Amino acid sequence: MNPDYASLIRDIPDFPKKGIIFKDITPLLLNPTALKEVIQDLSRPFMGQKIDVVVGMESRGFMFGPAVAMELHAGFCPVRKLGKLPFVTEQVSYELEYGTDHLEIHIDAVTDGTRVLIVDDLIATGGTAQATVSLLERLGAEVVGLSFLIELDFLRGRDKFPGKQIHTSIVY
Ligand code: AMP
Repeated sequence: MNPDYASLIRDIPDFPKKGIIFKDITPLLLNPTALKEVIQDLSRPFMGQKIDVVVGMESRGFMFGPAVAMELHAGFCPVRKLGKLPFVTEQVSYELEYGTDHLEIHIDAVTDGTRVLIVDDLIATGGTAQATVSLLERLGAEVVGLSFLIELDFLRGRDKFPGKQIHTSIVY
């Protein structure tokens, strides 16, 4: 991917709390050329891998997931925070720095052998993606790979996914 696009990701210090440097992708989303290239970059490594469903996590996974799904001729499935999905769900809880959080998926979103690509804007500790993998695997899906725009390499999130194909476009 064009390295200049990294300049369209804005660092916001101490957001949403002190000590976090938030990677703000909204300038990149506003740039038509960069947006198109990002979607292609997130999709390219998984072309020809027979992805059935792209799964995106609330909420920034929803900004890229459906467009990646269109590139791959796949469907899209949202993984949401607790209480947002109307049909019967499978749930998972996972540890945050302080406390726990929960994610849900509709039980009919995937089935045995569904080939899934997970898409999100950023991998930090990998906790969110790991919880999503466990939801999908409980429902019998095969997680073929994970694709992120940004990787915070110093947090070693990718170590949580030994043996899985992980693509990241911009590494910090
Ligand atoms: P993690 O579960 O630690 O890998 O965190 C990943 C999730 O938190 C992603 O959905 C990101 O959107 C969000 N996130 C974590 N750290 C940051 C950051 N520094 N800037 C922006 N988003 C972040």
